[in-house]
Amino acid sequence: METLTRRAVLAIGAVGGTALAASTAGAASFGNPDQPAEGAINANAAGLSDPGPKNPAINDQFPSFQSPPATDVGDMQLFWGSFNNAAKRIQNGGWARQVTKSDFAISDAVSGVNMRLGPGGIREMHWHRAAEWAIMTNGHCRITVLDPQGRAYVQDVEAGDLWYFPAGYPHSLQGLGPEGCEFVIVFDEGDQSEYGTLLLTDWLAHTSPELLAKNFGVEQDVFRNIPLQNLWIFQGKEPGPLSKDQEAVAGAGLPPFPFTYKLAASKPLKENTAGVIRLADSSAFTVSKTIAAAIETIKPGGVREMHWHPNADEWQYWIKGEGRMTVFDAGPRSQTADFRAGDIGYVKKSQGHIIENTGKTDLQFVAVFKAAEYQEVSLSSWLTHTPPALVAQHLNVSIEDVAKFPANQPAIMPG
Ligand code: MN
Ligand code: MN
Repeated sequence: METLTRRAVLAIGAVGGTALAASTAGAASFGNPDQPAEGAINANAAGLSDPGPKNPAINDQFPSFQSPPATDVGDMQLFWGSFNNAAKRIQNGGWARQVTKSDFAISDAVSGVNMRLGPGGIREMHWHRAAEWAIMTNGHCRITVLDPQGRAYVQDVEAGDLWYFPAGYPHSLQGLGPEGCEFVIVFDEGDQSEYGTLLLTDWLAHTSPELLAKNFGVEQDVFRNIPLQNLWIFQGKEPGPLSKDQEAVAGAGLPPFPFTYKLAASKPLKENTAGVIRLADSSAFTVSKTIAAAIETIKPGGVREMHWHPNADEWQYWIKGEGRMTVFDAGPRSQTADFRAGDIGYVKKSQGHIIENTGKTDLQFVAVFKAAEYQEVSLSSWLTHTPPALVAQHLNVSIEDVAKFPANQPAIMPG
């Protein structure tokens, strides 16, 4: 608000120092130039009050919705979502909750699942139509997956690690002791549900014992105790050493590329005093052919610079800290929303966005793209790689000032 006021005064000064009869005139000349002007700076106090019924605990989480910056304009599809208000399905062994396209309409390229498995807790052997990408946020987990050539992969993952299972590859997950695990899954289809997966137990329970006996070349009696309802998540025994499980399935050899990747331990794509960005797309995490991801940490006061992604929507999972994101689209449309840990942000392909750390601690989120390759266009890079006189004429700024813009795609700028 302070910045806007200052700019409004500068703008008024530029047209000859006309007296500011009301803040309305100033704001209309800069900030949101549209008519009628929007934002609290343009309103009298009586019209600003909000006496209606409200739930302060929810209301107060969204200062940028309660009083949008005057630069916000127009309508925009809701790009704030959250796991915080998604119902958990709890079973013995763990729980899961999800945000699919039917919960969060803008999220039509991907859907998200947040899952916890206690020590020994098993997410039943299953497969599904969509590919599955995941990031570990807590604890330890053992994954198993089989490729269509019959090559098995078993690995233990910890916080900061990723896994990727191509569409249709069968897999399982199990929490390891002592603390189990928590992770977030992203499916590369907006309507893939964790509750709509093909389960081992379901198929066996819905195949006759005669056919099961023929299929596996054993007596029917072998199947006398199979579960008749599916397990989905259930409490199992903690597995033994990883090397023993790996040996047990080594028959057909290893798949050519690992299905896991240590993102948090990887070399940063960008790092400066304002933060760090690490990247995992198919150039490094080879099997991840349909998902690219970046984990971004922004220091207090720092700003993730104005940019967009030409090749994919961005789905964000906010891991820690707090911040706000403003999204820009043609129209003009511009809207700001506030985010905290456990929330989901979504930016459509090629929409401009900027993210501010508004808290006193590091802000961290993971950005996920349904693409093989990570692509970004930086606004400051564009303006410093276009003939300076051309840029200066567009913005009515001096060529000397344009030359001060960062020309190296800093990604994160200090406060
Ligand atoms: Mn799965
Ligand atoms: Mn982005």
